[in-house]
This record gives sequence, structure tokens and C-alpha cells, in this order.
Amino acid sequence: MTDLLYYPENEYQKEFDAEVQKVKEIDGYVTLDRTLFYKKGGGQPSDKGKISWENGETSVEKVKKEDGEVRHFIEGDFPETGEEIHGTIDWDRRYKHMRMHTAQHIISWIVLNMYDAPTAGNQIHEDYSRIDFKPVSFNERDLEKIEKGANSLIGKELEVEKEERPRELVEQQIQEGRTNLDIIPDNIDPLRVVIIGGEDICPCGGTHVDNLEEIGRIKITNRKSKGADAERLEFELEEA
Ligand SMILES: [Zn+2]
Repeated sequence: MTDLLYYPENEYQKEFDAEVQKVKEIDGYVTLDRTLFYKKGGGQPSDKGKISWENGETSVEKVKKEDGEVRHFIEGDFPETGEEIHGTIDWDRRYKHMRMHTAQHIISWIVLNMYDAPTAGNQIHEDYSRIDFKPVSFNERDLEKIEKGANSLIGKELEVEKEERPRELVEQQIQEGRTNLDIIPDNIDPLRVVIIGGEDICPCGGTHVDNLEEIGRIKITNRKSKGADAERLEFELEEA
């Protein structure tokens, strides 16, 4: 098992030390006893970065959980099993994902409150992101209202807390339609939750900023119909 150093609320650390546990050169990956690299999941891409050791350095291109292991896929030289390494994540990329992912939470929250429409899926990127809602149908005026509502929340500079809470408590506290708890395996307890402004509670394993002001400004750039009663919104972030 790899200790995930960014949980539950340590999302601003950029460098760490760890020990190599397994080297699988033929498959292109290593595993570590601990890591700061975010593993792909929840619509958020993995971190990239580099790891270095006494006589070498290499690039981490992606990180995925497979067969119960957190695998760091490497391009270049490989360290040896037992080697002490120093890891550095690509902070520009990670911080963009943190801002984007937090923006996704507030848009999902706003759309649930304004239209009673749950989020059906999302995909975060560095430069733009998308969220699917269902069931709902938007018009152009709705997009303006959603954008305005989201930016008004950012203007309030609400704090974003991350913590672990007992699953039973989360089941009681969560707003109906905010997320589908049934898809989170039963044995995951406590749940890591993200709480915005003390009000929006959502179980999430991604990385997020500590205050909404860090997001900048949300601009909804596109809308696509995804069938009779489903909508996809695309958005970008502008510096505040
Ligand atoms: Zn999240």
C-alpha cells in the first residue's frame, strides 16, 4: 500500500521523499511507499513530475491505480528497489487541476440548487473542463445565470475544507442529488469530503484549492446537448 500524502487536506506540498518498493521496468512503472503524485481518478488527470535519486533522475508521466497498486509510469531511467527518491510534482499543472476541480464543485452545486439537476459526470483538464448534467435542458439565458451564480460564490471568497467523515454521517448530511454514494464501494469508510463555505458537502478524492478566490473567474464557453434530457457545459478559468 502506498501512503497518499495529499490526503485528506495536504494539497499544497510540492516535494516529498519516499522509498522505491517495486520496479517493473518491462511495464514501465515503479511503486513507492508514499507519494504526493495524484493518481488519475474522479475525472481528474494524474500529476506529472520527476523523481530523483543519488545517481539519477527520471520523469513521471502518469500515475494510476491498477491491481491495488499506485503505479508511477516513468519515461527514462529507472531507480532500483529500495532506493531513496525525492519526488517533485509539476506544480503548474497540479494547481490548474485544483482550481478547475474546485470550480467544477461550485458549478455542480449551483446547477443542483437552481435546476434540481444532478451532475452525471465530469472531466477536468488544465485549460478547460466539462460537466454533464441529467436530467435538464438549458437555454442561453440559463448559462448566463449559472456563470453569474458561480462567480458570485467565488466573490464571497468561501473557504474549502477537506476532511474525513464517517460514511454514516455523510449519508445524513449530503444534499439529495449531490452525488451518488452508491457507486462508492461500501468498505470505504470514513469518506474524504470537500466542504465549500460550510454548506456544500461532496465526497471527493480529488485535489482542490483552500479558498474559492484562488479559482479566478469562471467562463462557460460551450454547451452541448447530450441527448433529450442531458446537457454538457464546458468552462475555462480566467485570472481574477
Ligand atoms: Zn472534487
